[in-house]
Amino acid sequence: MSGARGRCMVCGRERELSGGMCEECKAKIREEAVGKQKRIKDEAEKELRKKGVPPDKS
Ligand SMILES: [Zn+2]
Repeated sequence: MSGARGRCMVCGRERELSGGMCEECKAKIREEAVGKQKRIKDEAEKELRKKGVPPDKS
């Protein structure tokens, strides 16, 4: 499903869209999502260490 042109719902520019947004915005959102997940994971590990639970060594 590529090649459909339209207005990106994120940046509002006329682009080839995939899933309602242009590749540029899609990549940006993906990056942000990955960064957020990493931060949440880091926080969780910090909490575990504070409680004396060793990190998973499997
Ligand atoms: Zn866009």
